[in-house]
Amino acid sequence: MTLTLVDVTLTYPDGDGRLTALDRVSLDVPGGSLTAVVGPSGSGKSSLLAVAATLVTPDSGTAVVAGTQTAGLGPADKAALRREHIGIVFQQPNLLPSLTAVEQLQVMTHLSGGPVRSARARALGLLDAVGLADKADRRPHQLSGGQRQRVNIARALMNEPSLLLVDEPTSALDHERGAAVLDLLVALTRERSTATVLVTHDRTHLERMDRVAVMRDGCLT
Ligand code: ADP
Ligand code: MG
Repeated sequence: MTLTLVDVTLTYPDGDGRLTALDRVSLDVPGGSLTAVVGPSGSGKSSLLAVAATLVTPDSGTAVVAGTQTAGLGPADKAALRREHIGIVFQQPNLLPSLTAVEQLQVMTHLSGGPVRSARARALGLLDAVGLADKADRRPHQLSGGQRQRVNIARALMNEPSLLLVDEPTSALDHERGAAVLDLLVALTRERSTATVLVTHDRTHLERMDRVAVMRDGCLT
């Protein structure tokens, strides 16, 4: 499934005026491909992901996600679109403190009304894919920062999203783990024809992307 951003402008209140976080940004990410978004801090990378995730409504322009025009959708429709089609990996994992790693993933199936009976097996398979097969019963405080980030990534994949949005996935990982997580994201993108957008500072993995887009002062080049 494809993600298309058309002429998106997003501003935030800033003192007496407005700060332009995204300045007429257009982007097309076909299913089965990965686009990296790079650029300095404050250039608008996370804002771009927030618009694509339908978490923020732009001032003008629109995002088309999995064939759905998001401009004009109400909050409930946007939430349903996110549950069914969008996997989001924020920089901060936001795991639930009382749940084990495998339970963090199973919750996603409950929320989406998916098949609960097969959820545990699927969750364990994804934890295995991110190298955490032996940590499935650990709670967040019993995991390292990098391990929590891998749970976060596995959780985003639980509902087989058609659009995967990932903010700085390798920043909390060492090089080897970062490469392994990238391998997983590339394989899943190809296998499931996911449209994947990856915000990254880590230039070592850029040759594995289909496209690299550079953000500067809210403009995409
Ligand atoms: P990046 O992810 O590239 O670091 P962001 O998208 O987070 O950039 O931020 C782009 C610009 O918008 C920055 O100047 C930032 O300070 C500003 N910004 C981001 N979020 C908000 C917000 N919720 N309210 C006001 N300004 C914001
Ligand atoms: Mg950011």
